[in-house]
Amino acid sequence: MADMLRESPYPMVSIADATAMIMAHAQPLGSEEIDALTALGRVLATDIVAPEDIPDVPKAAMDGYALRAGDGLAPRRVVGELTAGGATTVALGPGEATRIMTGAPMPCGADAMIPVEMTEERDGMLFIQRELQPGDYVHTVGQDVARGQIALTAGTTLGAAEIGILATLGITRILAYRRPRVAVLATGDEVVEPSETRPGGAVRDSNRYALMAAVREAGGEPISLGIARDDAAVQRQAILRGLEQADVLITSGGVSMGTRDLIKPLLAELGTVHFGRIAFKPGKPTTFATVGGKLVFGLPGFPVSSLVSFEVFVRPALRALQGDATPFRPRVAVTLAEPIRPSPDRPEYQRIIVTYREGRLVAVSTGSQSSSRILSLRGANGLLLVPAGETVYPAGSTLPALLTGPLLSEG
Ligand code: AMP
Ligand code: MG
Repeated sequence: MADMLRESPYPMVSIADATAMIMAHAQPLGSEEIDALTALGRVLATDIVAPEDIPDVPKAAMDGYALRAGDGLAPRRVVGELTAGGATTVALGPGEATRIMTGAPMPCGADAMIPVEMTEERDGMLFIQRELQPGDYVHTVGQDVARGQIALTAGTTLGAAEIGILATLGITRILAYRRPRVAVLATGDEVVEPSETRPGGAVRDSNRYALMAAVREAGGEPISLGIARDDAAVQRQAILRGLEQADVLITSGGVSMGTRDLIKPLLAELGTVHFGRIAFKPGKPTTFATVGGKLVFGLPGFPVSSLVSFEVFVRPALRALQGDATPFRPRVAVTLAEPIRPSPDRPEYQRIIVTYREGRLVAVSTGSQSSSRILSLRGANGLLLVPAGETVYPAGSTLPALLTGPLLSEG
């Protein structure tokens, strides 16, 4: 029987140092050409320069009449009607006006238009109530987007608005960063598939499924490696299988001090372990290694530790691997709705529900912060950054927090 280690051989690193080591290895993976208009969530690998002016010709901004401002208040002869999508070559002489609908190209010679509400039309003549300046109610060339303007920058994540911009510019193919393929492995002799019922201390594998969902949310492509028994040969095989298929490998469990915690020595044997302990709660044994240029995260087994460590250390790396210019969650200041007790020895990331109330972001705890209590993640849209210490933070104190999800509406 192997001896139990009394002290970890891995030095304790700070959260900031751990993050810096990870991010130094998280360079964008390269790009691929994809369809632009279905690229929701993808990250642009190049700037998008507007290839043309929008609009490309002067257009009517409202329904009304196109005319020459220089004709002053004199009645005009109405010579026709222009509609959106119609001809762009119509000419308008002095003393003339033409009906024009929103979005229709302005006729040559016209330099302004007047909304229908400010006019009367009788017997083919237009009467206007106010003088116009050249350019009035005209949507000028390049007013919305100017040719040569950078419409979107590399590193932008495409949402609905960005897809609309690409469509406006007629850009149907883009270079996007490749999404990281992320293999996820659960470990543990006690760990079983959620569909299995096994009495006697078995634990259903929530980590692999939660982590794969978190990978997808982070823009990665998850690959399941199943559950590996606590056997070095089995786990080595599974790790190698993962590294073959994926850019990133995430393991759950097996990184603590027990005799069946085999992940760290395996990673040290296969590659370089950059750190094996972080001054961080929940998730002290979180481990980061690289094997042949691929990133490996050994996350702790307890469900809360595993998912919070993912959020804090893995997610920014997955965002950076796909070229996101802003890979970190936003950091905000929150006001505590209730007292918060810090951990005496480590900075702690406590799960909170953040709401916007009376001009402030207010944080309510999700309850007991035990690492095994998965319900402490329920509904959380923030992680409260609680420095190590002995003194309770009273209600009303302000602490920094990461916003990990959208704010909820109050009503
Ligand atoms: P370990 O870090 O391997 O010692 O695991 C610590 C604890 O985390 C175990 O005793 C299990 O209760 C729990 N655990 C480990 N793996 C999983 C998993 N895949 N899903 C849910 N809980 C797990
Ligand atoms: Mg284990």
